[in-house]
Amino acid sequence: KLVSKKWKAKPTSVDLGDDVFIKDGEMAIITGPCSIESEEQIRKVVNHCLENGIKMMRGGVFKPRSSPYAFRGLGLEGLKLWHSIASEAGIKIVTEVMQTSQIEEMYPYVDVYQVGARNSQNFNLLDELGKVDKAVMIKRGISGTIEELLQSAEYVFSGGNEKLILCERGIRTYERASRNTLDLNAIPILKAKSHLPVIVDPSHGIGIRAYVPQMALAGVMAGADGIIYESHEVPEKAYSDGQQTLDFAQSARLAAWIREIFAKR
Ligand code: PEP
Ligand code: MN
Repeated sequence: KLVSKKWKAKPTSVDLGDDVFIKDGEMAIITGPCSIESEEQIRKVVNHCLENGIKMMRGGVFKPRSSPYAFRGLGLEGLKLWHSIASEAGIKIVTEVMQTSQIEEMYPYVDVYQVGARNSQNFNLLDELGKVDKAVMIKRGISGTIEELLQSAEYVFSGGNEKLILCERGIRTYERASRNTLDLNAIPILKAKSHLPVIVDPSHGIGIRAYVPQMALAGVMAGADGIIYESHEVPEKAYSDGQQTLDFAQSARLAAWIREIFAKR
């Protein structure tokens, strides 16, 4: 496979411009709300990122909700607003694309196209993202194997887009005490099998705010090249995933811990 270390031994470095990279040997920190909610919220998160030296912000404008009645995001207008504020601040945007028709309209406003867990095997979407010259982060499927994640990456890479990032975000197991089961095993295994950078999402991985920091740090020790986690000024009021979202004080502490642990790794 093209994404395998056998084919390419040198780790792939994903360059987002302005000296922002997701790559082996660095520790990418990506934070922000589950959903982009308002201009005020965007400004607050952008400021939080700036205050903590965080250069990449996550947030959904197209949300894949389990219930059709839940908040489904601000859409393209929300993305444009977010981009105008974030780009001014020098912050890169990581956001989910749910279908092929959105790729082109989102293009001017995104830095990393996120493929969500539910779309991890949407092969049409992966094919189309293979033709784009912007970074793509593929999340592991809800019940996806490590091999299936690598096969999904292969679709994009073989299509010609080598700016690819893998993301472990927890899998569905028989365990119901946590939202998902963060598969820490996947990190060293993916790093050994593939030259692509691997990042970890402890927020969706465990789904419980109080335990997000320790799972993030476990991810760092397991060899991750980055951590993506959810944050919000008032998590209890977040439109989605508040139960697993850190407030800004918790996020600031976690970012510092991530850097500290990474420096000692
Ligand atoms: C998200 O990042 O908010 C999200 C929907 O993630 P996942 O696709 O991993 O469930
Ligand atoms: Mn979420």
